[in-house]
Amino acid sequence: MAEFAGRHPNEWGLAVTGVVTQSAAQPVVLTLDACGGPGGAGVDQELLGLLRQLAVPATLFVNARWVQANLGLATELGHDPLFELANHGWAHRPLSVVGKSAYRIPGTGSVAEAYDELTGCLELLRAASGVEPRFFRSGTAHLDEVAAGMTRRLGMLPVNFSVNADGGATLGPGAVAAALAGVRPGDIVIAHFNKPGSGTGPGFRRALPQLLAGGTTFARLGDVLPPL
Ligand SMILES: [Zn+2]
Repeated sequence: MAEFAGRHPNEWGLAVTGVVTQSAAQPVVLTLDACGGPGGAGVDQELLGLLRQLAVPATLFVNARWVQANLGLATELGHDPLFELANHGWAHRPLSVVGKSAYRIPGTGSVAEAYDELTGCLELLRAASGVEPRFFRSGTAHLDEVAAGMTRRLGMLPVNFSVNADGGATLGPGAVAAALAGVRPGDIVIAHFNKPGSGTGPGFRRALPQLLAGGTTFARLGDVLPPL
């Protein structure tokens, strides 16, 4: 915290300096978030089942509140080689060192609060998976470049996305499928697996078989991004 105290950020958003949004590898990476909190602690079992049925891997960004509400499932997913657990924060706050907000959600207000947001979920993730989390995405995916630097200093790569497939689990199946149909090699896709009943699962069900038939390959972030 002393190392980052007093640094003033100049950037705020989804793709600030230090954040990864694509990979240099051929496979597409599906990153699925579970944000937790009121209305956010659900599980889209159909989507998870589809990925297993098609053997399509994914990186799962889970928030501490979601893990606490789904401890058994988190451990199951953490030990399934098809998946990889990643850090989606402690209280799902935008990651700011000066209290910026996103979508009217107040971000962390200081280096100390950003540190807590970055580290609060780590013990839960270690317990669920047995391995050290390598990737972080903040609540709302907004952050500043000082906070991105803190993330790296703590041994995690801040990762956002090049394709938004479900608009925060608000899009219908057709729009989700259309977004997925446009993926290119190296894309990192964001969607959600904590909103059963949304258009996300049906959209993936429409799009994934066609992508696989067309030769698109999939991998987890840990398979395509080099260690920090
Ligand atoms: Zn989230």
